[in-house]
Formats: sequence, structure tokens, C-alpha cells
Amino acid sequence: MERKSSEEERKDRKSESTSEQTDYDPSRPNYHPVEHACWKQGQKVPYLAVARTFEKIEQDSGRLRNIETLSNLLRSVLLLSPDDLLCCVYLCLNQLGPAYLGMELGVGEMVLMKAVAQATGRQLDKIKSEAQEKGDLGLVAESSRSNQRMMFQPASLTAGGVFRKLKEIASMSGNSAMNKKIDIIKGLFVACRFSEARYIVRSLAGKLRIGLAEQSVLSALSQAVCLTPPGQGFPPAVIDAGKGMSAESRRAWIEEKNSLCCLSLVLLQCITLNEMPNYDVIIPVLLKEGIDQLPNHCKLTPGIPLRPMLAHPTKGVGEVMKRFDEAAFTCEYKYDGERAQIHILEGGEVRIFSRNQEDNTSKYPDIVSRIPKVKYDSVVSCVLDSEAVAWDREKKQIQPFQVLTTRKRKDVDASEIKVQVCVYAFDLLYLNGESLVRQPLCRRRALLRESFSEMEGEFQFARFIDSDNTDIIAEFLEQSVRDSCEGLMVKTLEKDATYEIAKRSHNWLKLKKDYLDGVGDTVDLCVIGAYLGKGKRTGTYGGFLLACYDEENEEFQSVCKIGTGFKDEDLEQHHKFLKEHILPKPRPYYRVDQSAEPDVWLDAVQVWEVKCADLSLSPVYKAAMGTVDPEKGISLRFPRFLRIRDDKKPEDATSGAQVAEGDCNLVNTQSC
Ligand code: AMP
Repeated sequence: MERKSSEEERKDRKSESTSEQTDYDPSRPNYHPVEHACWKQGQKVPYLAVARTFEKIEQDSGRLRNIETLSNLLRSVLLLSPDDLLCCVYLCLNQLGPAYLGMELGVGEMVLMKAVAQATGRQLDKIKSEAQEKGDLGLVAESSRSNQRMMFQPASLTAGGVFRKLKEIASMSGNSAMNKKIDIIKGLFVACRFSEARYIVRSLAGKLRIGLAEQSVLSALSQAVCLTPPGQGFPPAVIDAGKGMSAESRRAWIEEKNSLCCLSLVLLQCITLNEMPNYDVIIPVLLKEGIDQLPNHCKLTPGIPLRPMLAHPTKGVGEVMKRFDEAAFTCEYKYDGERAQIHILEGGEVRIFSRNQEDNTSKYPDIVSRIPKVKYDSVVSCVLDSEAVAWDREKKQIQPFQVLTTRKRKDVDASEIKVQVCVYAFDLLYLNGESLVRQPLCRRRALLRESFSEMEGEFQFARFIDSDNTDIIAEFLEQSVRDSCEGLMVKTLEKDATYEIAKRSHNWLKLKKDYLDGVGDTVDLCVIGAYLGKGKRTGTYGGFLLACYDEENEEFQSVCKIGTGFKDEDLEQHHKFLKEHILPKPRPYYRVDQSAEPDVWLDAVQVWEVKCADLSLSPVYKAAMGTVDPEKGISLRFPRFLRIRDDKKPEDATSGAQVAEGDCNLVNTQSC
């Protein structure tokens, strides 16, 4: 390697100087990814560059501006330190790896507080009370840091270094893990400068909350690769693909760039990430082969779960007929169990994933062992979509969903299984090396039936009828309910009948019996507060404040109070669980009107399925505010508690937009 001249070395040193890094501003106009970066080509990305980007994004509420800011950081990373692109993307997403590996940091607030106290020499009580007051331990950690004077300044943090430490923390288990985790966190804190501590604490707590949803991170990534193509070498030929043009041609270019970005976003999101939800695979391909090659390298792969297709609610057979008009469709039973995406890998290994891409293989050893018996020899590898439903072997009938929830969740021993399940297969997404998601359902269904055989009570095909006669469908719906199902799933068969990964599609409609009763749909909502019980309910909570989750703004928006549908034992169970999650004050990302404030605020940790009779516009509740009315939100009328949805994370709660859409779908809607 050539020795650097002293002038170059001086420049290098300058580039590392803290002042340059603290002044780093990826939101500045006419950002130049080399000149305005705060590190040099070949150096590691300083974590402070990431933290500064988060700061800028947190300060600005404009979504497009924030996408641009993040894309500027990523452009610098692409040109100067492409090997750090993967960890930078993960840090922005606050993920440690693909969601299906379920890597979690497992660092509770108390442990974090202890680590902050120990690293800064402050008293735990002080940290606690300040965190309560500010509602953000990240800010407390940041201000505690600036009180500290250091004898020796430890080496500055790099994005890759922080990411590795976070992964190390997640991989620790066992008795002494907590102390080891605290030690690593302390090590990180002492090296923190400026806002770094704020974002490290929030990453560790699992909530970055800078208002950047995964969709925005993907937009920023696609914008970055459009403007500053990867893999160019250094010095790069193209730094800003739209630079140096006349005003006229720049305008045309920007339009083209937008469509280019849209195109690449579609590539990234719809084709790639949906079929290969793993940045560990996508980012190296992006860097090496470019965005156009993604679909050729990132294909649906057995063993890697895909996000499932979901259905839209409808309020009756009439609406189904109207929506599908001339299109051929099928009506299947909607079984009430747990979604099971069953993967058969080449070589015979079977893996089962939940609706949220969690690995459920060890929960269902009984399903795993029956797969070889029901698949024909022609099947080498495949991905099945199905519902696992509790099954009574003696009576030979389906059991309610509640029975399934009593089954152990992990490491089940096949000989100890009490709750038996039957798999109802309804789709085939991949067969022998070929993705079927772009094939119509009629073809997928035919292949499903050619590839598997039924075994009563163990593996069956979802019952269906192909009819467009309203009376026959209505009778089939009644029959489904008599057979312990929730109702029907109505699906297009030929036209517009591809499998739309990760979408709540209009090509699948759900028709539940409840809708026919005029009692409305069910929604999944997060509990964010509780009201103290009176009379018979003294000593427990008498009512609860529920919220939707708005992905775009990353916030929980209040949608109703609920006090009905609870059995006494439900209330006891809720009190016991929720009192462990009391907050001194609401999270900054809760949207609640003063007049609906609960007696106790709760951390958003649990999702409930709730049935509502109707919806109304409300000046008090905040769900979908600005969508249906500029100042009013939507609220649920007469909500009833149905059940806890342990299979859903708080961020999977029904969104305000979904409620708003339901609002216009429903009959009897007030003021819509
Ligand atoms: P929902 O949770 O109300 O949006 O309904 C969608 C869920 O219904 C899916 O995630 C599946 O777990 C379940 N389901 C039951 N039967 C079927 C079926 N025949 N086709 C598709 N999904 C089904």
C-alpha cells in the first residue's frame, strides 16, 4: 500500500475531528455525498453520522424531506463505505436481522436505567425520576453523558461497532446474561458523544421512534441507489445522477427520477422484500449487481417466511357480488385457528411459520411429522398456506379458537400434546423450485390438490364452493358457522387472482357471520390506558382506553373506551397483567384527547380483538383524524371485548386508515 502524504494524513485527521462530525448535516440543500460526509472513503461510518441523521429526522415532520435526509446519508455510505450499508439500514429499522429469526434485545427499562446510572455515576433514583419526567430515557442518557468528564476519551463509536454490540447483547442468555449485557451497554455509553446515547438507549429499548417506518427507509434506500448508483468504485463517475442539467432537463429528470425511484421501490418492496424478507441477502445483491438484478437473485425460498396475504372485510353477500361483479370467484370456509405457513425444504425438512413470520416449528411437532404422510412423492420442496385448527378426535369436529390458545407455544413434546390440530390447507405458493405467487388461484389450487392427499382430522383442504348464486352462498355461510368456522373467505379465481404478499387485498374478501347480524366487524386494538373500577369492579380496572396504530406517523391513536364483554375472570387477568405495565405518563407517541385521559397509562404491549356495532366521528378520539374529517377522529360505538390476540404485536393493531375504510363500508354509519 502507498504511504499517505503528510497533507493527506492531516486531512484524514481533520475528517475524524469531532467538530466536523457534530456539524454533519445530511438534510442540507445540495448535499454532496463525498464532500459533505463527515468521514472519508474507506473509513468506517461513524455512529455519530447515523445519530445526527436521526436527530435531523426527529426534528422535521416532513416525510419526504426525511426520506431525502436519510437517502443522503445512505448515498455517502454507498460511495465511501459500502460494506457498512447493511448495518446502517438495520440501525435505521431498529432490527438486528431478518424478522423471522426473532432476534430480540431483551433489555428491559430497569436494566437500561441501571446501566445509565452505572456508566454516568448518577443515582438510579435520579435517573428514574428524570425518565418519568421526560418520558424518554434516551434524552436522560444523553444529558447525563454531558455531565461526565473523562480522563481518557474512548475510541469513537462506529455504526458497525454499535450494531455488532447490539447483536451480541441479543445473543446472550442464561443466568449471568443480565450483568454481561449491562457491561456491554456501559461500554457503549462511555464512548457516546452528543446525541449518540439517546439513540443507543432507544435502540436497546426497542423503540427508535423517530417517525421512520420501514416503508420510508425503503424509499430512502431506493432514492439513494437511483441518484448514486452502487458499485462504481472510487472516485465515482456518478455522484448525483441529476446534476449539471439545465433547469428544463433537470425538471424532466426529476420526474423521471421519481418514476425511477418508484420503480426501484416497487422492486425492493413488492418483489424482493416480500419474497425474500431478508436484508442480509438483498443488500449485498444491491451493492454487487444493482437494483435491476434484485428479482433474479432474491426469490421466494422455502425456509424463509413471507408475509401473508390478508382479506378485506365485507358486510354481506350483496357486497361480495358487487365487488366481484363479473369475475369468477370461490367461497372457502374461514377456519378459526392459527395461520400456518408450512415450508418443505429440499431434503425434507419442514418449517412452520406464524402470521408474523415467527418460527412455530417447535410448537407443532405433530404437523411436522404428518407432512411426509400427506405429500405425494412428486413434491420436493414447497410452501403451503394453511390454518391450524384445534380438533376433537373423539367427536371428529373442529374446536373453538380458545382451545388452541391453551396449547404450549414452544418446544412441544409430541407425546404430551393434549390439544390436537387439523391443518386446513388453502393455498400453494411455491412448488419444486418455482414460485407460484403470480399464478392465479385456480392454478395454485389445482397444484395443491395434485401435490397432497387428505387425512381426516390431520390434513384437509379448505372446504369451498364455486358459485355465484346468492342463496347458495348465504346457505354455505350458515353451514360454515354450524361447522364451527368464522364465516367465509371469498377469493377471485382467475382474473386478478395472484397471491399478493403482505397485502390486505380486495381480491380476498372475508364474510363473517357477525357482519350479517349487523353487529359490525372486529378490530384488533392496543390497550394504552385503564380506568379504575367502581362498585363490583373495585380493586380491578373497570374500563380501558384502546388505540389504533398509525404506521405512517408511528403513533397510537385513541379510538374508544371499552367496558363491556369482560367476564369477571377476564378483568382479574387483565388487572394482573396490565398493572405490571403502568407508565407514569403517556408515551410521546400516544395521541389522546385530554377529556379521554385514563386513570392509569399503560405501555402498549397487548392487542385485543374487539367487536364494534358501529362507528362515529368524534371530536375526542384521534383515530384517522384528518382522513375522514380535518378535526375529528373516528371512534367505535358499543365496543365489546372478545379476546386477547397474543399472535399480534402492538404495531399489528388495526390502523386508523383501516378503520376509516371500514367506516365507509359499514351500514348505519353515523355522519360518514
Ligand atoms: P382476519 O385475521 O380476520 O383478517 O382473517 C384472515 C385470517 O383468516 C388469515 O390470516 C388466516 O389465518 C385465516 N383463514 C382461515 N381460513 C382461511 C382461508 N380459507 N383462506 C385464507 N385465510 C384463512
